[in-house]
Amino acid sequence: MKDTYLNFVNSPFGARLVRSIGLPKPEVLRRYRADRPEFDGLVAIGAGRQPHLLDALAGVIARSGFTSVAHESAGLWIPLAARHALMTGRFEPAEAGPHGRVAALIFDASGIEDSSQLDSAFGFFHDTLRSLGKCGRIVVLGRPPEACANPRQWTAQRALEGLTRSLGKEARRGITANLVYVAQGAEHEAEATLRFFLSPRSAYVSGQAVRIASSPESTTVDWAQPLAGKRAVVTGAARGIGAAIANALAAEGAHVIGIDIPSAREALEATIRPLSGTTLAFDIAAPETPAQIAAALDELGIDIVVHNAGITKDKTIARMTEAAWHSVIDINLSAQERLDDALLAAGTLRDGGRIVCVSSISGIAGNMGQTNYATSKAGVIGRVQSMAARLGERRITINAIAPGFIETQMTAKIPLTIREAGRRMNSLSQGGQPVDVAQTIAWLAHPGCAGVTGQVVRVCGQSLIGA
Ligand code: NAD
Repeated sequence: MKDTYLNFVNSPFGARLVRSIGLPKPEVLRRYRADRPEFDGLVAIGAGRQPHLLDALAGVIARSGFTSVAHESAGLWIPLAARHALMTGRFEPAEAGPHGRVAALIFDASGIEDSSQLDSAFGFFHDTLRSLGKCGRIVVLGRPPEACANPRQWTAQRALEGLTRSLGKEARRGITANLVYVAQGAEHEAEATLRFFLSPRSAYVSGQAVRIASSPESTTVDWAQPLAGKRAVVTGAARGIGAAIANALAAEGAHVIGIDIPSAREALEATIRPLSGTTLAFDIAAPETPAQIAAALDELGIDIVVHNAGITKDKTIARMTEAAWHSVIDINLSAQERLDDALLAAGTLRDGGRIVCVSSISGIAGNMGQTNYATSKAGVIGRVQSMAARLGERRITINAIAPGFIETQMTAKIPLTIREAGRRMNSLSQGGQPVDVAQTIAWLAHPGCAGVTGQVVRVCGQSLIGA
């Protein structure tokens, strides 16, 4: 759907008007485009005491094509960068100027063991934030608090969430801020995640804390076509977010098997045919469907399942029919469980596979008129949390993404004033696009994300709802 306000405030007249009357000015977000360099410009690096992640980071920066500069807090960076043959220099606040010369700020806080050492984060962001350009990226690196050796360290690492979320709210201008907690032993498994958070692919993901655990898997990744040779099932693929997911996975090299209800067969084929994928017209909620899908896919097997199909039937609970309650829970939640059971039991989903489930911020915050929907979407989060350890035995990851306000036919049905509020109540002051959800799913489906499991990542522009 078109966001008329965003287009208006980015016109010369609109920009002048909103400036003079003090209205929010959403930035036109820089999104990934295959014909533009994904990583471009200068990254400023800072660190707390004894950072553990700079070596791995230097490798990522060298391979991605950024140029780096070291803030005075990261003295170690210069020799490390030299070892990785990475061009580097020192960050000069005066030279960087207020004109947004810097594309990304990365602060390695992994060695911080006490709240008194958080001053280094202040020093870095105080000096550098104004140098960050439009649609810049902030990434804070830490250690998972719950794995810390003592309460002081746990406390200091947990404090990074407040820092990162506030940076996301202060930065504006299309800038995102995210926190990556890297477990001991997983230092060299963070590349796919760091690339995602430094890239325009994460345009609408802000204020998130993601954990990377060490995993037994060692994969050589083709960064241009990471999903080449993989087979990916996407439910609800005919339109909206599902169609965007199918496109994003196919662009990364996957063979996509799109599933949608029989009445959407034509739209499904129109989406999947140009991707040279396969279509399966099934109602995922029909009792016989899981076995039929498993049988249809059994011979070649699959590597990725994206549970995207979902519906809303909004009414306050006193006015809701039992049928409306039941169908929403059944399609959005129980059908996912039944399909996974069938695919896992038959071994159709291969070991080392990826399951990504689409939840919603309604499942986190609850929502007026959505008891059925919010129950189903909170259940999706429960599914991910309860199954991660069990699936880990087969090296299968399971994660959920929770979209906020995304411009689709589903949100186009929302009454205008509520829709406008939904769009603006986030740090980026705009709704997301289906491609923002799709790119986040492609990251979680990545072979380099074996250590990312059991997590819920919001794609909501740092919405105030449920935060
Ligand atoms: P949409 O209505 O545009 O698309 C949903 C697709 O799922 C449709 O193609 C539909 O035919 C299919 N589908 C529905 N029931 C099915 C069934 N029983 N079997 C097979 N296919 C079925 O919706 P969307 O906005 O693209 O949403 C996609 C997912 O994202 C949903 O799970 C939704 O709850 C979630 N979500 C959307 C938003 C948003 O702002 N749009 C926000 C949060 C979460």
